[in-house]
Amino acid sequence: MTTTIFKKIIDGEIPCHRIYEDGQVLAFLDINPLSPGHTLVIPKEPAVTLDALSEESGAAIGRVLPKIAAAVLKATGAKDFNVLQNNGAAAHQEVLHVHFHIIPKLESGDGLSVGWRPGKLTGGEELARKIAEQLEPA
Ligand code: AMP
Repeated sequence: MTTTIFKKIIDGEIPCHRIYEDGQVLAFLDINPLSPGHTLVIPKEPAVTLDALSEESGAAIGRVLPKIAAAVLKATGAKDFNVLQNNGAAAHQEVLHVHFHIIPKLESGDGLSVGWRPGKLTGGEELARKIAEQLEPA
């Protein structure tokens, strides 16, 4: 994996506006926020996409996401927010290091805009079984 800007932030080579840090997780303000308080929460483990992240780092992020989100809401006065997590170029991932966006949604409309084109579920039984099979130990 090539060095990313987030790895440089973790290593202290590039500054950030740090919000939270523990042994496995770092949270800091996004440099190009969609709304005030737009925060990034990243594992220190250098995985590119979420499916490649270890259970330990995933658990560490999951443990702190709620309290960081609550802190962002309290500090900004926002009541609503999105959590966004992009994986791969087609899914709009630009920085190749796992990150969760916490994006306050303001009454002014600032925040994340989502294009959502839902279909109708067909073949759900087979598809659910296929996915569940992938979770079974080899
Ligand atoms: P994504 O499209 O999900 O990969 O988003 C990457 C995010 O990283 C964008 O919202 C950028 O504004 C943000 N970003 C890139 N460089 C920095 C930086 N040096 N400090 C803080 N945020 C950054």
